Amino acid sequence: MRYSQYFLPTLKETPGDAEVISHQLMARAGMIRKVAAGIYDYLPLGLRVIRKVENIIREEMNRAGAIEILMPAVSPADLWQQSGRWQEYGKELLRLKDRKDTEFCIGPTHEEVVTEIVRGTVNSYRQLPLNLYQIQTKFRDEIRPRFGLMRGREFIMKDAYSFDIDDAAADISYDRMYQAYRRIFKRCGLDFRAVEADSGAIGGSFSHEFMVLAETGEDAIVSCDTCEYAANVEKAELRAPAGSAPAPSQPLAKVETPNLKSIEDVSAFLKEAPGKMIKTLVLQADNDEVVAVLLRGDRTLNEIKLCNFLGCNHLQLADEAVVQKVTGAPSGFSGPIGLTCRVLADQEVATMSDFGLGANEANYHLTGANYGRDFQVEAFVDLRQATAGDSCPRCDGKLEAWRGIEVGHVFKLGTKYSDSMHAVVLDDQGKERPLVMGCYGIGVGRAAAASIEQNHDENGIVWPMPLAPFQVIVTMLNPNDEAVFAAGENLYQELLEKGIEVLLDDRDERPGSKFKDADLLGIPLRVNVGARGLKEQSFELQERRSGERIMLPIEGAGAKIVAQVRAALDAG
Ligand SMILES: [Zn+2]
Repeated sequence: MRYSQYFLPTLKETPGDAEVISHQLMARAGMIRKVAAGIYDYLPLGLRVIRKVENIIREEMNRAGAIEILMPAVSPADLWQQSGRWQEYGKELLRLKDRKDTEFCIGPTHEEVVTEIVRGTVNSYRQLPLNLYQIQTKFRDEIRPRFGLMRGREFIMKDAYSFDIDDAAADISYDRMYQAYRRIFKRCGLDFRAVEADSGAIGGSFSHEFMVLAETGEDAIVSCDTCEYAANVEKAELRAPAGSAPAPSQPLAKVETPNLKSIEDVSAFLKEAPGKMIKTLVLQADNDEVVAVLLRGDRTLNEIKLCNFLGCNHLQLADEAVVQKVTGAPSGFSGPIGLTCRVLADQEVATMSDFGLGANEANYHLTGANYGRDFQVEAFVDLRQATAGDSCPRCDGKLEAWRGIEVGHVFKLGTKYSDSMHAVVLDDQGKERPLVMGCYGIGVGRAAAASIEQNHDENGIVWPMPLAPFQVIVTMLNPNDEAVFAAGENLYQELLEKGIEVLLDDRDERPGSKFKDADLLGIPLRVNVGARGLKEQSFELQERRSGERIMLPIEGAGAKIVAQVRAALDAG
């Protein structure tokens, strides 16, 4: 492609509504253009990246035995009424009526439509397993679309649906997709983790989210430095720490701590690390139960774990009146001694001794406190949030903490849709059985955006070779110089012939502004063709990621560049 004839409307200014770096860079690099809130044009450069993601997905889905179809974007309300989702789905479902007043929606997902296909065509276990997928534009009427392609309303998604005769077979289909997803994201050049996810209300114990690691990610995750274990911090289990508490060596003593309420303030005042203190949280559940929870001072409560233990849906810090009632003191001075409510402790507390905690008296704390001698608890439970350095729950490794962007989700659905829509087959005994389903999504545009969140610097995008819109940019420093023009043109033709995706910057612009654009677009390899280099019979080859430059003799330059592109693609 010749830059001078290409359609590449880059922007000098970052659009005001672009909050995250991927949105800013996609807009500035002329990849996307906003049409309405959460709705974008994919301009040529953006579309090239989208197609690359799609092609990798398609190859790996086909390799895993899934079969591509294309379902309509618009689906009839009737199908959604059969599954019950017409009523369940909130305002995110964009509903519309045709000229005959028949109701439709624009599909945010396609479980109903695909189940309807299968129930009309598959009636024997012999036709299973079956996995149908599509790559298609979807619509979800997000209340706050933002972050460009990261959270748009209209978006391109790969969605796959597996159908099996029973749970065991469905688990095999699930695992096949899980493995395919690992290959897809690896081939995209993304650093990711497959994270055990909460399967939510739909049930089925299998669910993994594929998270691209990026500091800007919305999800906090932990992963093991040794095995494949990874989980959302909300979900991450923690093993009970080994060993028991050392015997008490200090007497319980009351210390005046005037107006010092936070763990930080009290620990600074007592010259004791927060990790040697216990904090006591008084919480109120949605069933009005009040419970006190003891945690090591530097730990964070995991509310989901506590809700699961208590069997409630929601918790909040108790208000001042409740704290006053159960502790006899204002908040900030709570401790476990003499409480009138249930007291639970995180399992780690069982290994601590001689710690500081609240005295249940305004402006006082206690030091030298010990479980057993000074107070009791109802139970020691895994109640805290996992953090970097914790032991892996599966092996002897240590957990590392990351932030991640969800780009894919594999999910064992079970029989939710086959039951409600009566999608059954006959088993080998001639008995009717509901199909056991799985669903598997990848946000195509989001994967491209996540790649930018993971791969950029202050000058622009730094594409991994597999997703780069062009693999090489050949920059003619001065295209008006005949020798430069001819040498650039020759290299361009040679690379094209060898199947390299190359952008020829033949524009009549200053070299500085061409370099700036090349850096912004993030093309992995740049070849500078200039008069000075030509005098020495060479080009300058610069890597976008490392910034490293080498002089490349013209003789054999094409072959060297091809080899470098291939090596980078194979590494993915
Ligand atoms: Zn591990």
